[in-house]
Amino acid sequence: MEHFYSDPTFQMACEQFRLIADHLQMPENLRERLMYPKRSLAVAVPVRMDNGSTRVYQGYRVQHHLSMGPTKGGTRFASTVTVGEVAALAMWMSWKCALSGLPYGGAKGGVHVDPRALSRNELEGLSRRYMQEMIPFIGSHTDIMGPDMGTNEQVMAWFMDTYSAYKGHAVPEIVTGKPVSVGGTSGRRESTGRGVVYLIERAANVIKLKLISSTAVVQGFGNVGAVAAQGLAYKNGMRIIGISDVTGAYRNDKGIDVKAAGEYVLKHGDLTGFSGAEPISAEELLTMECDVLVPAAVSAVIHGRNATQLKCKILAEGANGPTTPEADLILAKRGDIFVIPDILCNAGGVIVSYFEWIQSLQSFFWNETEVVDRLFRVLEQSFAAVIKRAKDEKISNRLAALAIGVERVMKARCDRGLFP
Ligand code: NAD
Repeated sequence: MEHFYSDPTFQMACEQFRLIADHLQMPENLRERLMYPKRSLAVAVPVRMDNGSTRVYQGYRVQHHLSMGPTKGGTRFASTVTVGEVAALAMWMSWKCALSGLPYGGAKGGVHVDPRALSRNELEGLSRRYMQEMIPFIGSHTDIMGPDMGTNEQVMAWFMDTYSAYKGHAVPEIVTGKPVSVGGTSGRRESTGRGVVYLIERAANVIKLKLISSTAVVQGFGNVGAVAAQGLAYKNGMRIIGISDVTGAYRNDKGIDVKAAGEYVLKHGDLTGFSGAEPISAEELLTMECDVLVPAAVSAVIHGRNATQLKCKILAEGANGPTTPEADLILAKRGDIFVIPDILCNAGGVIVSYFEWIQSLQSFFWNETEVVDRLFRVLEQSFAAVIKRAKDEKISNRLAALAIGVERVMKARCDRGLFP
């Protein structure tokens, strides 16, 4: 099966899993059952382009395990998407949901496409056809979609509308991250970045770092990165000295006006030509001296070649899988960086997605204060559990977070047994 999902990101997720399985002394006969995805679907997604031609894009959805309820996971539109990357992201979703105590298995979807190269019409065609192809595979009690890199509230609205048109009535609970106007929840769009900021505050407290006037660098300026940068700057009084997106990286030691950067991206689509900072290389961004580093873009950006050069005190993983196992070993050996591992750090998104799903199922809506308050309570519990486990077992925060998540899934699997 490893051959089918063959991909460096999948190998990375498997390598992490094996470390945890060893740590938990997991019986051999459970390892493959827990590691490999339950099922996956690959689809061809034909799209009528504005110039009259038809292009076919490759789409995937992977459901990792179904032992604890429906699966849940975002949909990624990016030119890096492979079935193996989607499978790795689905696996991480499983551990993340279990760590947060959510009644979900992990899933993920993706289309191999650069969404920035599509017109709005083409993007709508792609989104609707992808969802249409997924209809036999998903359901509000089987597999619930959400946003990820390259998709947003508008794409979720198209997904929801397509599925609802097929069913003959509105089915808002089939997706999360949709606009509030069609049954989305207040506070979903900001939830991942807000959770990242909350956990940075908690980590700063542990290492006795005063956030006010300290510095942060944020890689990726989308849903997660931009919201996190704003929270760090305006809620905590931090100086954001580096930001980046897929088009380039920028540095300003006096502090970047992140509100202006956000408005610039809204107007121009990306940071190209942003004048509030000096352009620098993507590699320099990650190794800048700063108090908090937030990778919030793609996976495997912190690796064996740059892990020794990181100069931050807190590494807050907004992205999924930003640190390779090789880099993890280096960071563990250094011991001077407090790592908030991805399955904890960016869990705010799926936690509020869970709140949205519940509200959609009940047609009973909460206000933003209730959403944020409940989000912080769940994150607090997970943070405390991870810190305690790491301390008790003298392991890294990542191993502790993964151990809690994997263990909970293992327990559910064992309790349900093997059919037939
Ligand atoms: P997004 O599409 O809103 O933004 C992604 C940002 O990363 C953009 O600014 C893009 O230009 C930038 N980027 C892309 N490739 C890059 C590269 N090679 N180098 C530097 N920047 C690059 O996506 P998002 O929703 O903010 O997701 C970002 C990360 O957070 C992903 O790893 C995603 O899986 C993870 N995540 C997202 C959510 C969520 O709720 N959106 C939840 C949990 C985890």
